[in-house]
Parts: sequence; C-alpha cells; structure tokens
Amino acid sequence: MASAARNDQSTVKPVPVPPLNLAAGFAAIRDEALAELTAVAESGYYVLGPKVSAFEEALARYCGVQHALGVSSGTDALLAALMALGIGAGDEVIVPTFTFFATAGCVARLGARPVFCDIEPRTFNIDVARVDRLITPRTKAVMPVHLYGQLAEMKPLLELAERHDLAVIEDAAQAIGSKAHGVGGGMAGSFGTCGCLSFYPTKNLGALGDAGALLTNDDQLIDTARQIRIHGSGHTYYHRVIGGNFRIDALQAALLTIKLKHLEEWTEQRRARAARYTELLQAAGLTPDPLQPPYEGNSRHVYHQYVLRASRRDELAAYLKERSIGCGVYYPLCLHQQECFGHLGYQPGAFPHGEAAAAQVLALPIYPELTELQQQAVVDAIVAFYARSV
Ligand SMILES: *Cc1c(COP(=O)(O)O)cnc(C)c1O
Repeated sequence: MASAARNDQSTVKPVPVPPLNLAAGFAAIRDEALAELTAVAESGYYVLGPKVSAFEEALARYCGVQHALGVSSGTDALLAALMALGIGAGDEVIVPTFTFFATAGCVARLGARPVFCDIEPRTFNIDVARVDRLITPRTKAVMPVHLYGQLAEMKPLLELAERHDLAVIEDAAQAIGSKAHGVGGGMAGSFGTCGCLSFYPTKNLGALGDAGALLTNDDQLIDTARQIRIHGSGHTYYHRVIGGNFRIDALQAALLTIKLKHLEEWTEQRRARAARYTELLQAAGLTPDPLQPPYEGNSRHVYHQYVLRASRRDELAAYLKERSIGCGVYYPLCLHQQECFGHLGYQPGAFPHGEAAAAQVLALPIYPELTELQQQAVVDAIVAFYARSV
C-alpha cells in the first residue's frame, strides 16, 4: 500500500473525528431556531397545535404523501401504525432480521409475532424474493426497513403484498429523502400503506429530543392514527379505540420545520462525503478487499450511515476508536438471535446473510460538517491498520 509510509504513527498528527457533530447542525439554524423557540414558549401552546400542523403539512409535501402525523418518536410511529391497522395477538408480521430493534419490538409489544426474513447482501435490506415463502394465513403485514438510507426493493414487495392482501409498513426511520430512481420515483415512506419516520437527534432530520411521524395516503388510516395518538380519543374524554400518548411537542415541530428546509442541502453533503470516502478507499487500494464500500442500487441513498463490510471488523473498530475516530456497528446481532426473541425458536445460521452482515459491517463517521481533512484522517488510519497487520 503506497500511502502506508506517511501514516507512520510518529509523523502523523491525530485529527479527531467524532462519530457525530449535532451541535454544529444546530449552529447552522441557530438564529431562526431561537426565534421560533421563543415564539413557542410565549404562545403557551406546547403540545400539538398550530406549529405541529404546519410541520405536518410541510413534511407531507416533502415526502409526497397526502398526510403526515407528528408523533413522539419513530418507535411510536411504528406502534401507532400497527395499532391503526388493528394488528395484535395471533397476527404475524414479516420483518428483516437485520435492523434496529424497534421494527420487531413494536410487533411483539402488541402480542403479534415478528416473522424474520433474511437480507439481500448488497443493500442489507429485506430480501423480497424470500418474503413469499414466509406468508401464512396469519400474516397481516410486512415491514421493509430502508436501512442506512437506501430504499428496500419496493416494487416487487408491493406487488406481493397486494396479491396476498398484506399491509406494507415502511420503516423509513433512516431514510427520509431517499428516492426511487426514474420517472415518478417516490420518496421513502410514500410507497406502502404507511411509512414511519424518526427525528431522533442522530437521524438525517433530527429534533432536539425525541420525535417521529407517520405518513400515509389513506384518509381513514390517518384519522384512526390521529385518535390513537391521543389515547384513541376523537372527542375529548370519549374513546373509540385504545391508543397511547404519542403526541409530539410544538417545540420539536417548530424546529423540524426549520430544519426540513435545509434537508436537501444536507443530504447532498452526506452524499458528497460518501462518494469521497469511496474514492479515497479505492485510491488507497483497500477495495473490494479488505473493505467493501456501500452499494448504491435502485434509489438515491441518503447515507444516514456510510457502511462498509470490513475484514477483521472488530479489530479495525477498536483501532479506530483508540485513535479518536468514531465508528459504529449497526448492528452487531440480528434480531432472530436476540435473547428476548429466544422463544421464537430461531437457530444460529437461520439467516446467513444477516448474520454475515452483523459480523462485518462498520459505519464510518458521516455528517454534513465532516471535513475533507477528517475524511483523509479516517482513511489514513484504516490504511495504517491493514498495513500494520498483514
Ligand atoms: C431510529 C430507528 C427507529 C426508532 O426511532 P426512534 O425515534 O428512536 O424511536 C426505528 N427503526 C429504525 C430502523 C431506526 O433506525
């Protein structure tokens, strides 16, 4: 490796690369945000209300759907969606085994059974070709997850769901703004029966706390979800269905409305940084072995995470962390291997692609504020790791 020499530990000044830089994201909107926060504080309207409605309208327009409903988190968006669809005990919901816990956790919390599916190894998304054989008379829905910011294969999945009369709940928590290529390409969260977004601070559109949203084109579903958001109450203190407290704060909605205006610009900055990583890694001779860069398939990848497959992943991650380079493993264990799902009876080896991903994936720091110098430092450290250890 040609550049190994200049990575000699004694000559390189360390450039710290934090895993995230959320405060910098706030700095970009500080003045506007402080004015809005003051306005909300002085309005006395702190939960739901006009700021929330305004955000919901802007969000629905951006995502290309009829309705958006602001809720308390991405998890609660998934939960409210499942509840609005009447999913509960005795039902089955097909979910990828390689995803954040919430996707399957919400299914199980309602007494339904998560039925796991392996992933497609290039995109890490649910392998739609394997969904068919998991469908039983009890299957009510399938939940594709647009992992790391890239759309799952929606067209064949929607066709399959239609044939079997299944609801499609998109977990778009990581994928706001991801868009199918081609004419009329839809946005993440706009394809299925409904879509769920998270505005957890680390997500591409992040609040100053927890928040989420449910997207749909279905008038009846949005009415039900709207009631579920406030304990199933249509008229105050009269309850048609059982819901929860899934309300969103006005402060978060006001802030998200401001941030939404910047999202396209921030997404392009993420994409530019992803492209630069791939170029630098290629130039260093690290791809496709020992590192496989992300594959960009059928959609505009919004790079919530820039995820490599890495040989000797755990050693590399430890090496980078020692050098103040934030990196992460999303996720180290598939859901069918989680202790809490042991009763479902899945054996190790049940989903080889998911299990291989869990052993190999490594996410490098990616955010709009990441500098060229920092990216070079990340790649230099990776070069040094593999040069040192061959
Ligand atoms: C973040 C996330 C969620 C949950 O969102 P919260 O706002 O943290 O509750 C669900 N699914 C996926 C894939 C996520 O990344």
